[in-house]
Amino acid sequence: MSKARRQVQENLKHVDLVMELVDARLPLSSRNPMLDKIIGTKPRLVIINKKDLGNELETQKWVHYFEKQGILAVKINAKEQQTVKKLTKAAKEVLADKLERAESRGIQNKAIRTMIIGIPNVGKSTLMNRLAGRKSAITGNKPGVTKGQQWLKTNEALEILDTPGILWPKFEDQTIGLKLALTGAIKDELIPKDEITIFGLDFFSKHFPNELQSRYKLGDAELSMPAVDLIVLLTKKYGFRDDYDRFYDLFIKDVRDGKLGTYTLDIVGELEDEDEIHGDD
Ligand code: GDP
Repeated sequence: MSKARRQVQENLKHVDLVMELVDARLPLSSRNPMLDKIIGTKPRLVIINKKDLGNELETQKWVHYFEKQGILAVKINAKEQQTVKKLTKAAKEVLADKLERAESRGIQNKAIRTMIIGIPNVGKSTLMNRLAGRKSAITGNKPGVTKGQQWLKTNEALEILDTPGILWPKFEDQTIGLKLALTGAIKDELIPKDEITIFGLDFFSKHFPNELQSRYKLGDAELSMPAVDLIVLLTKKYGFRDDYDRFYDLFIKDVRDGKLGTYTLDIVGELEDEDEIHGDD
């Protein structure tokens, strides 16, 4: 078992609730495939972060998707102040029965202890800083350096473990790898840029054609071109001659910077192995 996973399992014993953080652009592909196994029956709240980057309609579909599985999901922008209120309310909702039982035994207003789990770059540090309310409290991702538990106090209702659980996405699935690469969730060197660009062009022309058309001023005929032909065309159009790498860089940066608008790369109902992703290994 990996060290990160062992650490998460150890830390789980101390929390009432797990906050699983996912990226609104990849609500499924940014999950750790083994999380279900790791956290077992521990209550969980799914937090769909970076909602400002995801397509609003698709994000809402994902909220329903999780709901159907009996999991409460909330969409947030970790940079916004209102996140604190939203997550406190959601945490109380997930643990409503437990809190009620505690109250009936005379235990009033016990703070909910929680930990944040997610793949790299999903926004764990940003969220922890937001919840802890002071930037100095946390110093980035350092798996494996727990020196006793430290709890960061959000308010009377919520305390967060100072070490987030960092787990890995499902790299070995090619499509997931491409999606992660396009959003910048994994290192650029891992997947060739031409493959990322072809995947991105195909995806946008299928799901968000208007954005692609307006960003690159494409006519209808151009929009329906195969991605490789479109690359040749746009590389020329930008005056890059046959330096395709320059176009790959431009396109990938455009997508990541939101120049093609908000977007969601995981489409509900379109993924063949939705269950597999968060099922077994
Ligand atoms: P971690 O690796 O999971 O701790 O992720 P970070 O907290 O370091 O965040 C990775 C990047 O995502 C940083 O550039 C953050 O500023 C950015 N980020 C985090 N949350 C949000 C969000 O809700 N919206 C946007 N647009 N960016 C975010």
